[in-house]
Amino acid sequence: MPTRDRPIRTRYAPSPTGPQHIGGIRSALFGWLFARRHGGQFILRIEDTDQKRSVRGSVEQIVASFDWLGLDIDEGPHIGGDYGPYVQSQRLDMYQGWANWLVEQGYAYRCFATPEELAEMRKAGRGYDRRYRDFPADRSAERAARGEAHVIRFKMPLAGTTSGIDSIRGEVAFDNAQLQDAVLLKSDGFPTYHLAHIVDDHAMRISHITRAVEWLPSFPLHLHIWHAFGWEKPQFAHLPVLLNPNGKGKLSKRKQQFADSQGKSVPVLVHEFQSAGYLPEAVVNFLTNIGWNFGDDREVFTREEAISRFDLQDVNPANSAYPIAKLDWLNSQWIQRVDANDLARRLKPVLESVGYAVDEALLRKVAPTLQVRLKSLNDVLRMAGFFFESWSDFAAPSAEIVIQRKMDASSTLDILRGALPLLEALDNFSPEAQQAAMSAFAASRGLRNGAVFGSLRAAVSGQKVSPPTFDTMQILGKAESLRRVKLAMAALENTLS
Ligand code: GLU
Repeated sequence: MPTRDRPIRTRYAPSPTGPQHIGGIRSALFGWLFARRHGGQFILRIEDTDQKRSVRGSVEQIVASFDWLGLDIDEGPHIGGDYGPYVQSQRLDMYQGWANWLVEQGYAYRCFATPEELAEMRKAGRGYDRRYRDFPADRSAERAARGEAHVIRFKMPLAGTTSGIDSIRGEVAFDNAQLQDAVLLKSDGFPTYHLAHIVDDHAMRISHITRAVEWLPSFPLHLHIWHAFGWEKPQFAHLPVLLNPNGKGKLSKRKQQFADSQGKSVPVLVHEFQSAGYLPEAVVNFLTNIGWNFGDDREVFTREEAISRFDLQDVNPANSAYPIAKLDWLNSQWIQRVDANDLARRLKPVLESVGYAVDEALLRKVAPTLQVRLKSLNDVLRMAGFFFESWSDFAAPSAEIVIQRKMDASSTLDILRGALPLLEALDNFSPEAQQAAMSAFAASRGLRNGAVFGSLRAAVSGQKVSPPTFDTMQILGKAESLRRVKLAMAALENTLS
């Protein structure tokens, strides 16, 4: 629970470096859940102070990722808000003003060390040796006024400890002697993350900073900067990160896909989940389950259910191996959970992406037969794409597809010959009526149901895998189904002549 009488505002503050990585989204999601739980706001802020790494079009990609996942944003560069601009490169004056203020107040100092000097310090295996920390203020101001290149560094305490409260980890303490006088403002006038995010989080009234645990080592520096400004600090939650599926190392970012332990390619970018046919609900559910749990062993839950329970205190501080194997299962659960028309709506673009002109009425008949069978939306292509091919162009499947286990061309032909008049005689072509007729037929001939149903399935779909045979035939209709059975019979006859 929030402990202060202060509106809850959390933010996601990515650097615009291209497609969204699932690790960043996971951090964002926890901030989002927390804001939604408390009726607060969730803000998108673009941290583009490292201009070299900025990639054009990133903001659009970020917004598209959030839209797809269904995580709504209250303020951000794409929609504005009361505390903008929400892009750091548009706020440079502010950072420069505050950096100078820190210098004037004695909390920070200008450092004129040249790149060569810094390289030497690095070579010697030491960090920055604080050589300008006690440089006289008037001479420092003069050199700056003459235009000499410099950075602004924060004066960290040299001894003692710094401690702070992390919402997930409780109290954390750091030995000040281990800390550096970090750069706040670079020589090109751009701030570093350390300065920029604090100026912004204050100006944007952020109540809770939810960010990756990689920032924990900088936490004492940030606490001192907050203190120097005299601003009311937000609360901090350093979120565990995702590790590679084998538990070793942080989930790879640069390589977009890599092999998990089974050698399967694993999605890590939001658009990869989308193109692999995952439902956004399943992805959100999957991410919410990593490092947090619903509390009653429930693994499948809606975002609304998660919101009603979520708290930062309950996040497990340990980093987690990426449990990608769970995602396929969750996705199939979600595919069963959405209603059939909704499923049809989601399958349509998948079918269209490979060029089918989708008849929506037909798709609404097909979708219910797939609901318990799809692991991924993309499976529709393999299982049921044939429905959307031109029916009049349907070509007889090869004998090899129609012939079932332990059968041959002539015994399969016998089956189809025997089945055809029985199906033709059915006035009611429901799956149940077909099934009753075909089971009776199989029994009368001493055949396995599988041999009869499988031959028919292959005959009408042209495939070994499809929705249930009799559902398929009902959707195709009696006339079309029988036409296809006859085509298959002709194909088998050809192999025998
Ligand atoms: N731009 C920082 C990052 O991407 C933001 C960290 C934070 O949320 O404060 O790591």
